[in-house]
Amino acid sequence: MADDSIAVVDLDRCSPDRCNYECSNFCPPNRTGKECITVRGEDTEEGDPDQVRISEEICLGETCGICVEKCPFDAIEIINLPSELTEDPVHRYGENAFSLYGLPVPEPGKVTGILGPNGIGKSTAVRALAEEIVPNLGDYSQEPNWDAVLDRYRGTELQNYIKRLTEGDMAVAKKPQYVDQIPKQFDGKTRDLLERTDERGELDYLVDELSIRPVMDQDIDSISGGELQRVALAATLARDADFYFLDEITPYLDIGQRVKAARLIQELAEDDEADRSMLVVEHDLAILDLLADSLHVAYGEPGAFGVVTDPKSVRNGINEYLKGYLTNENMRIRPNAITFEEHAPRETTARDVLVEYPDLKQSYGEGEFSLEVEGGTIRQSEVLGIVGPNGIGKSTLAQMFTGSVAPDEGDLDFRLDISYKPQYIEIDQPMRVDTFLSSITDDFGSSYWNTEVAQPLQLNRIMEQQLTDLSGGERQRVAIAACLSKDADLYLLDEPSAHLDVEQRVQATTAIRRYAENHDATVMVIDHDIYMIDLLADRLMVFDGEPAEHGHASQPQEMRAGMNDFLADLDITFRRDERTGRPRINKPDSQLDRQQKKQGEYYYA
Ligand code: ADP
Ligand code: ADP
Ligand code: SF4
Repeated sequence: MADDSIAVVDLDRCSPDRCNYECSNFCPPNRTGKECITVRGEDTEEGDPDQVRISEEICLGETCGICVEKCPFDAIEIINLPSELTEDPVHRYGENAFSLYGLPVPEPGKVTGILGPNGIGKSTAVRALAEEIVPNLGDYSQEPNWDAVLDRYRGTELQNYIKRLTEGDMAVAKKPQYVDQIPKQFDGKTRDLLERTDERGELDYLVDELSIRPVMDQDIDSISGGELQRVALAATLARDADFYFLDEITPYLDIGQRVKAARLIQELAEDDEADRSMLVVEHDLAILDLLADSLHVAYGEPGAFGVVTDPKSVRNGINEYLKGYLTNENMRIRPNAITFEEHAPRETTARDVLVEYPDLKQSYGEGEFSLEVEGGTIRQSEVLGIVGPNGIGKSTLAQMFTGSVAPDEGDLDFRLDISYKPQYIEIDQPMRVDTFLSSITDDFGSSYWNTEVAQPLQLNRIMEQQLTDLSGGERQRVAIAACLSKDADLYLLDEPSAHLDVEQRVQATTAIRRYAENHDATVMVIDHDIYMIDLLADRLMVFDGEPAEHGHASQPQEMRAGMNDFLADLDITFRRDERTGRPRINKPDSQLDRQQKKQGEYYYA
């Protein structure tokens, strides 16, 4: 018996018709005649009758783990819960299912952030706070009720919230995580969707602030991801609610748009008379840092159990997360810390030249969009960051380099093998992930490849899946792996952070950086996540201009000059966290903001 261990069976993976019940055949208690792993039978509430259930009373715990090894579909997890975790779950979805520990505390007039990987129970927590599920306090065998929940939280900061919720006194507005799904649920024009949300009479203001006006009369199914995200934000913020939940605000947005969205959310929280609470899940750390007043870190084992910590200051929360160690919880969540360089990287002029390219020009249609690129040099073994707003020509430049778009002016006659990960990933062959990746590299399966590529990109659990069945984040990780696994002179990654959660970004960044260093590889990375760019780039290429009209790309520059160019255009300055050196966005018009602008030091002040 292992009191502190849980057994989780992923019912989407458990496929007894294809495995011969290896788990139960080899389970030591089963072999001595006990009923540890059994079939669910006809009376099961979840899953199929022939799928397995595991008795957490009889199971020997993680030190045994034989069934975990035996299951060919990675359907079983046996986990010893951290001994630091002394409380009971808030909710468990069912037998051998995911359990959630802890709840975030929405605070009137404040923005509360949640930081953690996907699958850790953030949405489950919010569903409880939005009264969409009644938390069962871990006892899934009985009908849950709010009185028991209220009892559990009596005397805590959540008591008032839950009381108001159950009295029907709490209006909730939610922005969904996957905005791409909106056109499937709504048929009509942007205007029709937005007008029905205008409960505070502020819609016009939001439409202007979020630059939605040009698409107001377009059909929802014809607008871009970035436009959908801003429409979804406006639709949520236009409501007159007490509790707003925003599940990721940055996907598809550039940095300027991310900062704008953050400020609008803060503005709504700061409306003194209304006492609104905002809860935000966000994976872009610079934006979360700017946006939140306090922070809950969520940790655990995605898909198995998740713990939402007590609130921390946003500064400490992010610092502890990056450090990989939660102080109050005495919990290590990652073996290695993520560290930032406070000073601009050293000059890289000493490196050999990989390629020189001339001035380039490209335009689409009759005066629709034109791009001018200043000729420059890419150096051997450097990581070149590429930044700029959406619609300014970054992907067009990538396509000119790879040869899929021929520039109108300027010759790109270099013969480089370029491994390219486009922004929109099309890997739709009917093929398994492992077959696909092994067709790309002979290193597939080697211990080197496993440690450097498969592990940090969390590919092991999806190797047997079909490419066509992958989620956005899974597809991204496979595409990054495929890009890095090719033998090439230049690796070009367009938005590797898209669809990745915070931990996957941290891991992908480490994998790309380590790959570049170990292979003396030359890498170009286009991204909007400033922490990712900071951790990866040796130099910077900056795009400016008027999105969708004309773009201009600078030569690659040293980080300090590049960041100054880029951020001056956005009118944003960063200071450094005293303890960790990580960059933090300054409040506009704060003393530091004004001082740094005067000195022209937007980033490395
Ligand atoms: P996050 O928001 O952090 O991504 P979720 O709260 O959506 O996490 O999900 C946490 C875990 O709970 C996931 O592994 C998910 O599969 C599981 N889960 C979610 N809903 C249900 C459900 N209705 N029944 C069983 N498991 C569920
Ligand atoms: P970014 O990568 O910076 O978001 P892009 O290079 O994708 O920018 O696009 C720049 C502009 O060019 C946008 O206005 C886009 O609509 C337009 N554009 C991109 N590709 C094409 C194309 N094949 N035909 C016409 N217009 C295009
Ligand atoms: Fe049986 Fe538990 Fe061992 Fe799995 S981990 S084989 S359920 S004792």
